[in-house]
Amino acid sequence: MSASHDPSNPAPRDAPDPSWGDATRAVHAGASAAEGRSVSPPIFQTSTFRFESVEQGAQLSASKAPAHLYTRWGNPTTRQLERACAELEGGEAALCFASGMAAGSSAVLSLLQAGDHVVAADCLYAGMTELFERVLGRFGVATTFVEPSDAHAFERALRPETKLIFVETPANPTLAITDLAEVARIGKAHGAFTLADNTWASPVNTRPLELGIDGVFHSSTKYLNGHTDVIAGCVVGRAEWIERVWSVLKVFGGCPGPHDSWLVLRGLRTLPLRVARQNETALTLARALAAHPAVEVVHYPGLEQHPGHEIARRQMRGFGGMLSFEVQGGLRAGRRVLEALRVATHAVSLGGIETLAVHPASTTHAPLTPEERARGGIGEGLIRVSVGLEDAADLIADFRQALDRAS
Ligand code: PLP
Repeated sequence: MSASHDPSNPAPRDAPDPSWGDATRAVHAGASAAEGRSVSPPIFQTSTFRFESVEQGAQLSASKAPAHLYTRWGNPTTRQLERACAELEGGEAALCFASGMAAGSSAVLSLLQAGDHVVAADCLYAGMTELFERVLGRFGVATTFVEPSDAHAFERALRPETKLIFVETPANPTLAITDLAEVARIGKAHGAFTLADNTWASPVNTRPLELGIDGVFHSSTKYLNGHTDVIAGCVVGRAEWIERVWSVLKVFGGCPGPHDSWLVLRGLRTLPLRVARQNETALTLARALAAHPAVEVVHYPGLEQHPGHEIARRQMRGFGGMLSFEVQGGLRAGRRVLEALRVATHAVSLGGIETLAVHPASTTHAPLTPEERARGGIGEGLIRVSVGLEDAADLIADFRQALDRAS
């Protein structure tokens, strides 16, 4: 029987409607005829694909990012995730990677060559600071780091050879807020590409492309997946640029495994629900922490006293699930707090269903020198919290009992 007469033959699914709300789009994002009649997407757990003819082999090998040639070049499960990431960020196209660092470094490498200059925020995920400072510096690319809450600092640092402006907002771990629309305007006026790490906000809270930013990347390990069980990344932007990023991926080889792509796709379905709850709990926890006598300062853009609050109100739909705070008594007091937590888990990473707390100076930002940490405002007593899906009352009680032991 030919496929067209087979009653089980898959009919193509309707494309997701761009007018749908966030939760509806997340449930259907990436859907296409490729998954057939399976409601959950199939996992194409294969490294390679059979050619039906020599001509087909030649044609696929000459194409960009084919999904059915060889999994380093592309894979149907990963392609479905790529469509979903592009839809949620409001971009033309996306490319998925084996980690956030593979995504970020490939995005950056697609844009630069020896002699170019970068202007980057001075408070970033440490891996990106290392990339600019220690790796690209060796290949003739210079970077100037600027204070990210002053958008005009990016403008003042521009040189004729500046090709890239790189931001992360809210910034890791100080929650500094950068005015994305203003940075996008500065980049366009100068002819420099603007790239944002949108890991912390997630597309539920901020869509940098809608504010004029040229490209976005994520550590999908975090909110996009949301379940602390996969390392992954993605890059989103114009199709022509994504093709250039794919040329880097193909050579550097940072492709995701199909099963990991499936896990991220599954996590994405509940992204708006999770993030809405995390936004709410983080604000409640930030207020409770700010009222505790052992806390010197709480960094959370949802608090009126946060220096980036007004910009965050303009460019974020919610203030996010990340916060950090300084305990009176510095590192010693902070250590006591971390070791006394019972509901929150003491671990690196973020964006999952469980609340995680960490001391950035000795862990996530330990690869930086003390001077680099000081430049980014990362104090020795700073504790970073990724708020999960536990009850807010349990989290508040946990942090209170831990802070009571701080002194
Ligand atoms: N960007 C941000 C803001 C991060 O927090 C991280 C990881 O912690 C990364 C990028 C790197 O992502 P990955 O660990 O998935 O490589």
